[in-house]
Amino acid sequence: MTENKNKQCNTYRYMGAIHIHSIFSDGTGNIDEISRAAKKAGLDWIIITDHNSLDIEEGYYNEVCVIKGEEISPLNDNHYLAIGIRECINSDNPAEFVKEVKNQGGFGFAAHPDEGINKKGFPRNNKYSPIKWTNKNILPDGVEIWNWFSQWCDNLNDKNIFSLIYSFLFGNNLVNEPCNETLKWWDELNAKQEKIIPAIGGVDAHAFKVKDYFIPVKIFSYEKMFKTITNVLILDEPLSDDFTIRKQQITEGLKKGNNLIINRAVDKIPPEITPRCGESIKLKEAEYLTIKTNKKSTIKIVHNGREICNKIAHNFQLLLKEAGKYRVEIRVGKKGFAYTNPIIVY
Ligand SMILES: [Zn+2]
Ligand SMILES: [Zn+2]
Repeated sequence: MTENKNKQCNTYRYMGAIHIHSIFSDGTGNIDEISRAAKKAGLDWIIITDHNSLDIEEGYYNEVCVIKGEEISPLNDNHYLAIGIRECINSDNPAEFVKEVKNQGGFGFAAHPDEGINKKGFPRNNKYSPIKWTNKNILPDGVEIWNWFSQWCDNLNDKNIFSLIYSFLFGNNLVNEPCNETLKWWDELNAKQEKIIPAIGGVDAHAFKVKDYFIPVKIFSYEKMFKTITNVLILDEPLSDDFTIRKQQITEGLKKGNNLIINRAVDKIPPEITPRCGESIKLKEAEYLTIKTNKKSTIKIVHNGREICNKIAHNFQLLLKEAGKYRVEIRVGKKGFAYTNPIIVY
């Protein structure tokens, strides 16, 4: 394991990817191939979430901690990434399965909740239609605020063969920032309650084999996808060597929102933000929200769902004068780069 200690903040950072499909659903990789790709992409942990399946065997593979979850996948809508459940859940009713995940001691994230809302195109011969979280009054435990593959599908340009080839070759250019509607909904959910409704970023990696065009090609390999939307888990203690404990540290960290969501296709070095994601701090004199970025970036701070700051800077400090939930968005050029979970000031 690499030394992940951030000496300045005395915390440990571990990079991971969530929302992955294997041969147990519509992905093409087995656990060995997927974990090898994760290792090559510099990840410490991954969560494989096959559609309606918990068949994958979790554990350590190629020095990567592989955790299993299930993407509860009704046919037309309401996909839910369930983590920490014991038995596979097969239900079409989101109110019911959100509850069942809790009953099993698990935790879930509404997957690609606004898929298709900004849809520009999709291959004409593809029967696929967007899968949304249709009833926004059904409260998930958490929200997948960014999904690489889902956004790529929405922005895929199939006007002609050249734009189509461009979309496949330069997929990262089609993935810009989380959908506004999702961020708005997530802020609303957070405004409604004291605790944090945590967010994750998902890759939705499949490493599809596409046979429709000229020659069969494998698009968006696992390794390539693992170098995009990444969850940087920020922990007080290093991860344990014991798999069961390590799994718990990772899932509990995600539950608490101790993960920063970054797109490594935009920049490689995560910003340093204190207090850290998901932390609760007491309002006192001279308490600051401190943001240190790797390069000049647009720093946006949202307080209780309202934008209170939008600055181009390298480093930035905001004096915290009011209680509430704060979160930070960082853009590099026009591309979304980093998104924190809320920080509670009380
Ligand atoms: Zn899905
Ligand atoms: Zn999926």
